[in-house]
Amino acid sequence: MTLAKEAALDKAMAARQTCPGPCGRRYFHCLPLKTLGSCLECHDGTPADPASYIAPSAKHLLAA
Ligand SMILES: [Zn+2]
Repeated sequence: MTLAKEAALDKAMAARQTCPGPCGRRYFHCLPLKTLGSCLECHDGTPADPASYIAPSAKHLLAA
């Protein structure tokens, strides 16, 4: 696989793994966006396992 193909695939995967809800986290698994529209935590408050998503970027941490 070429790097360009890998990048394109990652972009497609990111869209399915990133929560459009308030948390904005990118999970390591695909989210039920078609049914819930967000991750479970944003949907009904079920806390997500911190090991199941990528830690927020510094950009988020700096938001005051
Ligand atoms: Zn979420």
